[in-house]
Amino acid sequence: MEISATMHPDIKEVLLTQEQIQDIVRQVGARITEDYRDKNPLLVCILRGASVFMADLIRAIDCPLTVDFMAASSYGNSTKSSGILRIDKDLQTPIDGRHVIIVEDILDSGLTLSYLKKNLESRNPASVEIAAFSVKDVAGRTPRLEPKYVGTHVPDAFVVGYGLDYAERYRNLPYLGILKEEVYE
Ligand code: 5GP
Repeated sequence: MEISATMHPDIKEVLLTQEQIQDIVRQVGARITEDYRDKNPLLVCILRGASVFMADLIRAIDCPLTVDFMAASSYGNSTKSSGILRIDKDLQTPIDGRHVIIVEDILDSGLTLSYLKKNLESRNPASVEIAAFSVKDVAGRTPRLEPKYVGTHVPDAFVVGYGLDYAERYRNLPYLGILKEEVYE
């Protein structure tokens, strides 16, 4: 892909191209296939950001699985976590006895995922693991949890694209990039 020709003007830097993303997703999918071959896992997509990763990931997993969707909000239109979590849409499937994999776009402080993981664990599943497309590295900070499957690490900046938004925009960018500060300052 010719990045400079297709890069959105609000993007400061492309972190991962479409091709690099597809390589990452293939690797995560292969690991999940290996680990869950006879377990019929339930992949839970956290809307809306993880929807693009989810769509690619399930096609990179070569074993029977089912899918469900949840929505939780913590950020609103801001670029910093509010610390407030709310379940806006719950699962339609009972998960008792199921092997659950939470599919998330990005782990920053880990607050959202630690809350969601506890919530799902209280419903008697056989297991709950996390597949995060990206984990944000912040100097001097340890995230609240370590996902079993991590696609990539990103620097401490606000990233958009590949499902990730700012105020609902940029989700459709096929690459992952850092948003220019002037867009949100
Ligand atoms: P945490 O609770 O781990 O601090 O934040 C996780 C959630 O915050 C993610 O699911 C995502 O919705 C949002 N988030 C965190 N960092 C970023 C970022 O760099 N870009 C975007 N678009 N969303 C982010």
